[in-house]
Formats: sequence, structure tokens, C-alpha cells
Amino acid sequence: MRIRDSIHTDQLPPSYYAATCNDTADFPRLEGNIKVDVCVVGGGFTGVATALHLAEAGYDVALVEQNKIGWGASGRNGGQIIGGYGQSMSDMAKINKSFGKKNVQAVLDMGVECVDIIRDWVEKYAIDCDLTWGYFDAAMKPSDMDYLLGAMDTMQKHGYPHEQRVIGQDEVKSIVGSDKYIGGVVNMGWGHAHVLNLVRGEARAAEKLGARIYEDARVSSIDIQDDQTIVNMDTCRVTANHVVLAGNAYLGHLVPKLASRVIPAGSYIIATEPLSEELADKIMPKRYAVCDQRWALDYFRMSADRRMLFGGLATYSGRHPSDIVAAVRPNMLKVFPELESAEITHAWGGYMGIGLNRIPQLGRIAPKVYYAQAYSGHGVAPSHMSGRLIAEAIGGKTDRFDIMVGVKHPPFPGGRMFRQPILAVGMAYYRLKDAWG
Ligand SMILES: Cc1cc2nc3c(=O)[nH]c(=O)nc-3n(C[C@H](O)[C@H](O)[C@H](O)COP(=O)(O)OP(=O)(O)OC[C@H]3O[C@@H](n4cnc5c(N)ncnc54)[C@H](O)[C@@H]3O)c2cc1C
Repeated sequence: MRIRDSIHTDQLPPSYYAATCNDTADFPRLEGNIKVDVCVVGGGFTGVATALHLAEAGYDVALVEQNKIGWGASGRNGGQIIGGYGQSMSDMAKINKSFGKKNVQAVLDMGVECVDIIRDWVEKYAIDCDLTWGYFDAAMKPSDMDYLLGAMDTMQKHGYPHEQRVIGQDEVKSIVGSDKYIGGVVNMGWGHAHVLNLVRGEARAAEKLGARIYEDARVSSIDIQDDQTIVNMDTCRVTANHVVLAGNAYLGHLVPKLASRVIPAGSYIIATEPLSEELADKIMPKRYAVCDQRWALDYFRMSADRRMLFGGLATYSGRHPSDIVAAVRPNMLKVFPELESAEITHAWGGYMGIGLNRIPQLGRIAPKVYYAQAYSGHGVAPSHMSGRLIAEAIGGKTDRFDIMVGVKHPPFPGGRMFRQPILAVGMAYYRLKDAWG
């Protein structure tokens, strides 16, 4: 199956999520010019979470999305809700160095809070998104196990509030029915969801609180003035006191400074037909989300209607593979040979924003123009934290936002022309490392 990433469309990209979305009704188009307190550009989790946090705090907010809410990475990802806010939790030296020793507890707490935001909103706004708790970090070799035990130790020492359990080789098949894994760690504070229903449900919640959410509203330029910013679309504009740029890997070169620090990397997913209950119970008895520990990792989970959603395959060339099923299915069959005869009903992919140090990038390009981007493949929960931090900063409370602003984010080497090929070579190295153990 071939996918196309048309940059301006009134359709959601074809995927399992789009085919089973419970709310595809359009949000309105913006007709004419408006003035608001805050204008958010981009209708993925970063933008929608920012809008919802601001609407909850009583701001007059407008969100403009070039296509449909959830059209970008947020509505087509693996659906894995993973905590942590950009830190490798088994490496305290790295955490100390990135954030400063005095901020470590605050950063680890934000890594828990980002998931709490989703938990709270799904309940508070009754969002129907198949939210399921339970996550399994799978180990394929002893060094993976060492890494996972180190991360678990750090989390426990810093007060992680949810159940975590070490799984040995003898127990692993009670979680994933595959010969691939030697053990791992279960985390009941993380989980998975139908992300398109989640992001659109959050946008509806913001709309009900008074936020103005617009689709088919592509921003072509931004005019930053002393006391206000004008966000221009083809036929209309929004004038705002504050602007939040939440276009991430899809923002393109609208703001060159942001583009130089984020690279769009492709990731791809296939979905099987619904499996029999017997087969589903054999291969995914607990229905937890699962990830392995490689750079080019497999990630998978069972949907509510018992389809295997299996993802992986990172590309850095800026081009999608011509046949996603041919590229991803062999990896799925290595983990679950039992799925040989399962029909593949959907295949899709999208771009995620990768940063050089893999820590989310938050900041301002002008005193009242904020941005958040580059979750490096791990953004469903962290984007909710970014939205909260930006809303706090707009409200004048900048202590937590400033911790993230303080992290250094070097641009990618190679400039606009060569950074993507250079990254592709770097990633090929890590893939070889995965293969050689
Ligand atoms: C295939 C895939 C699998 C993934 N799996 C996982 C996973 O399992 N777990 C996880 O935590 N993370 C995962 N990720 C990463 C995660 O999806 C992202 O980090 C997260 O969704 C980023 O959200 P965002 O709102 O910042 O960006 P996006 O969701 O990409 O949203 C940006 C939006 O901005 C809009 N936009 C851009 N430019 C303009 C403009 N000029 N005018 C108006 N609108 C504009 C775009 O149309 C887009 O809708 C995955 C990503 C992909 C692609």
C-alpha cells in the first residue's frame, strides 16, 4: 500500500484510526479576521492540549489546523502512552547534565504528570478512546534487561506512583506470546489508546469550553509585532497577544530556526483483520502495549476490536516506503509467526519530529510566541505536558517551562540540504549496533 502525505487536504489520512474514528464531523472553517488572547497553530496533541489547558483557565483561544484535527502524527501513531519527559531514566548522569541537578525531581514528576493529564481528561470529558492501562518494556538480550532495571530503579527512587513488575523468562509468555523476548518490565501507569479519538475528543472538550477550533486553516506566514502577532492564512488572519507554534514535524520551513532543530522521520504501522479471541489471548494475553529496546524498535498493541497494530521501521530520507506492508509485515511475523494468514487491512505512516538530543524542545521565538516540538517518537503523553507548561507560561508562571527552555538543543549538522542524509547514516550505524547486539 502506498501512502501520500498531501500537505493540504480535507481528509484524514487513511489508517485504522481514520476508519474507526467516532467523530469525523468537520470543525468549522475560519471566515474573516478575528482577534483573540492566544492563537495556537497546529491541531495535534501539542496544539490541542495547549488549547484545552488555556480554555480551562478561561483564555480566549483560537486553534488553526491546516487539515483536520489529528491529521498529523497525533492521529496516526502507535497509540502507546509512555510517560517520561525526554529523559533516559536509567542514566542519572545524563538527566543531571541535561536539566541541572536541582531540576531532576521536577522533570521526573512531569514524566508522570504527562500521563495523568490524559487519564484525567478522558474521565472528566468522557472521551471514548479505548484507553487501556498496562505497558510492557520487552527485553531481547541481557543488556536490555540491565537498562530496564536501571530505569525502574531510578523511577522507584524518585517516587514513581504506579505498579512496576520485573518479568523473567519463565513468565514472559503470560504477557507476549512470542519467543523473541527474555523478559522485561511491566508498568501499569502507562498504556495505550485510540489516539485519533483521543485528540479529537480533547478538541471537542476545548470547543465546549469556548475555544475556537478551525480546520482547513493553513498558516502561510506570521508577522510578529511589538504588542501583537498576526497569523496569516490565505484569505483571513488571526491577531493574537500570544501565539503557540505546534506544527512539529509538519511545520516545514514556516519558522527556519525551528526547522533547523527538528527532522521529520517516518514511522509505519500495519493493522490486521480482527483476530479470534483464542489467537488474541495466545499472543497478547494481557492486552498491554509492547515496545522493545532497539533503536529501530518494534512497537505493537491489540486494538479494542482485536486487531494487531504493529509498527516500526524508521526512515530518515523524507520519503515513505512504496509498500508499507512489504516493509513492516516481515517484522511482525518474526515476533508472531501465528499471524502468517492474518489479512492486513490497513497500512499507514507519518512523520515524527526528531531532535538531536531526544529531549522535547520548548521555548519562545519572540517574547509572546511559544513553540514545542521534537518528541522523538515518544510524544503522545509528553505533548500534553508541553501544552500545560506553555499555558502556565502564558499565565505568568514560568518555573517549569524555564526548566525545559534551559535545555540546550543544537541544530542538526549539515544545514538544510544535508542534515537528513547525515542523520540517515547515523541511524544506519545504530541499526547495525542493534543487529550485532
Ligand atoms: C507512525 C508513528 C508512530 C508513533 N508512535 C508513537 C507512540 O506509540 N507513542 C508515542 O508517544 N509517540 C508516538 N509517535 C510520536 C507522536 O505521534 C508525536 O510525537 C506527537 O503526536 C506529536 O504531536 P504534535 O501535536 O506535536 O504534532 P502533530 O500531531 O504532527 O501535529 C502537528 C499539526 O500541525 C499542523 N500544521 C503544521 N503546519 C501548519 C500550518 N502552517 N498551519 C496550520 N497547521 C499546521 C499539521 O497539519 C499537524 O496536524 C509516533 C509517530 C508516528 C508518525
